[in-house]
Amino acid sequence: MADAETYEVLAVKYGTHAERMRADNFLSPGPRMTAAAAAAADDHSTPMPLDYFIWVVRNAKRTILVDTGFSLAEAPLRARKLEHEPRDVLKRLGIDAARIEQVVISHLHYDHAGTLDHYTGARFHIQEAEMRYATGRCMCDESMRKPFTVDHVCQMVKNVYSGRVQFHDGDGEVAPGVTVHKAAGHSQGLQAVRVKTANGHVVLASDATHFYENIEQRKPFSITVNLEETLRTYDRLQELASTPKQVVPGHDPLVLERYPAWKPETQGIVHKLDAPRLD
Ligand SMILES: [Zn+2]
Ligand SMILES: [Zn+2]
Repeated sequence: MADAETYEVLAVKYGTHAERMRADNFLSPGPRMTAAAAAAADDHSTPMPLDYFIWVVRNAKRTILVDTGFSLAEAPLRARKLEHEPRDVLKRLGIDAARIEQVVISHLHYDHAGTLDHYTGARFHIQEAEMRYATGRCMCDESMRKPFTVDHVCQMVKNVYSGRVQFHDGDGEVAPGVTVHKAAGHSQGLQAVRVKTANGHVVLASDATHFYENIEQRKPFSITVNLEETLRTYDRLQELASTPKQVVPGHDPLVLERYPAWKPETQGIVHKLDAPRLD
């Protein structure tokens, strides 16, 4: 029965940005806090590192990749530390990048949509609004195009022309038990992925919430193109998951503490999000 399908969900860490401060990760003090409380809670000079992930969703029938990360060549251009090229970590999981058939791109920012050319057999799932945004007039402004890399966007345009893109507008299905949901705010057409697991529905939020703190404290990330949509998206993500705790942020190092390693030797690299949380 198709709707009985459940999946293993893996967070795969491939990079990190250690030299990062709290001030880099929040738009402004949270709206629920008074100015005095915000000042006390938010020492903006405290380090707050950020990890880079891609996600693997799989069962006996299929393997779906969520985001493709960025390449070794791009890391120094963005002053980031790349620990593994994403396809090399996938190899350790027994996955050949060239044989993956379905890739969901949460949004077209440089750290989510690079190395598209490694996935030569894939069909790419993306929101119409994200493609419009990344190829439209907003990109005339440096401040809005900064998180994008033009080569990634051009590669996605080429994929459209070769018939390898599946567009979604709002909610859409990738496979039985795997759906995408527009989760805009950080980017115009960001989408989250909801996956049915043996422990209920897990929501891969990607950059709809970079850290647990963004969604839990309702303190949006520093890159926010629409504040109101960002806050509505937080509500939607929590509704989509079986419990609010099962919304998985896109860049939080805490993910690796809150979920068990896939295998002992993948501690700190590949962790299992379909398992119950450890905390
Ligand atoms: Zn982003
Ligand atoms: Zn990101």
